[in-house]
Amino acid sequence: MREQMDKLQQMKDAAQLSIERHKDDLYSLSRDIWSRPELAGEETHAHDRLVSFFSQDKTWTVESHFKMHTAFRASWGPVGGRAGGSVLNVGFLCEYDALPGIGHACGHNLIAEVGAAAALGLKAALSENHTELPAPVKITVIGTPAEEAIGGKILLQKAGAFSDLHLIFMAHPAQQDISFQPCIALDEVSVKYHGKAAHASAYPWEGVNALDAAVLAYNNLSALRQQLKPEWRLHGIIKHGGVKPNIIPDFTELQFYLRTPFAKDLCVLKGKAEACFRAAAVATGCKVEITYPALEYHNILPNATLANLYENNGKALGIQFPEQPANFSGSTDFGNISFVVPGIHPFFYICTDAFNHTEEYTEAAGAEKAQLFTLRTAKALAMTAVDVVCCPDLLSQVREDFRLAKLQQEI
Ligand SMILES: [Zn+2]
Ligand SMILES: [Zn+2]
Repeated sequence: MREQMDKLQQMKDAAQLSIERHKDDLYSLSRDIWSRPELAGEETHAHDRLVSFFSQDKTWTVESHFKMHTAFRASWGPVGGRAGGSVLNVGFLCEYDALPGIGHACGHNLIAEVGAAAALGLKAALSENHTELPAPVKITVIGTPAEEAIGGKILLQKAGAFSDLHLIFMAHPAQQDISFQPCIALDEVSVKYHGKAAHASAYPWEGVNALDAAVLAYNNLSALRQQLKPEWRLHGIIKHGGVKPNIIPDFTELQFYLRTPFAKDLCVLKGKAEACFRAAAVATGCKVEITYPALEYHNILPNATLANLYENNGKALGIQFPEQPANFSGSTDFGNISFVVPGIHPFFYICTDAFNHTEEYTEAAGAEKAQLFTLRTAKALAMTAVDVVCCPDLLSQVREDFRLAKLQQEI
């Protein structure tokens, strides 16, 4: 037992050491992605940079443009275990898309760095000691583009990109270190009102006012909000509101986001919102078109075993986890993946009090002082992976947590 613990510690030390050893390369990787921000689906520079990062080391098998133009996959192994034993494939995800106008204000360049660093860490740990692994272990890094729009991971999942993975790790920059935050389910709705144009002063009675429909819908939703559960969210904009004050608008468009803590409640909120949109059409005599142009993001499924392991490893590295983490009502396409493969998506502090999606956060995500926190997070993820690949009981527990959480949150 003692010997086993020593071996585990040795592997964790090797993971940390390797991440430390690569810290300059890792910072240059994330700084390079940060300094050339690319929007969702257009991340060609980040893609090429990550592909060449892994290709430098010939022990990685790298596939560029993996199932999506700006996605990639890098795999290493398998090593260890019994010959012919079934392989345990451990996945690390990188994101690298930026936001319009404000660059890497969500710090996805650091997500790419954490994914790459944690994979290097686990590789070093396994290279050091794999003779007694219970099963052969393989490492797979997947570059998942377009998180801020489109839902790249959902597209990749539909294309089978995660079907051979058994565990998935990634981490996202935020304001605090949090091992588990559920995030919330999200769907986007687009509403178009079609009315009839007329001279707004000379013959207003000839018109059917699509702007009135949009305004009524906006107000209907504002009234509805009072009767929603406190964690439910609906928020939106009038994307198109007419062309000129003296023409009664014959076309308007609204874009709204609908969010609930559990994906299974989203259809209830959708039903209520749709009633608001349709009521505005009836009141004004407009025709309404309601569509859901994006893929639905699920909430993140909890995995207590992985979260606890991550906390323990993080604490050993000096990470402080607040007793009562602040509530965060964002959404991520990782949610969908968490329903398919057991995994974790902790949040990490990057040495700023600024909030994501602000210019201050963009600055912080590129700053050198974020590096200590970023690499510490990568180390904790790699160490957590070491725990699970070395201990079959923990792996069974992770799988049981996954099964139960899925059962409780059946969509
Ligand atoms: Zn974001
Ligand atoms: Zn983000």
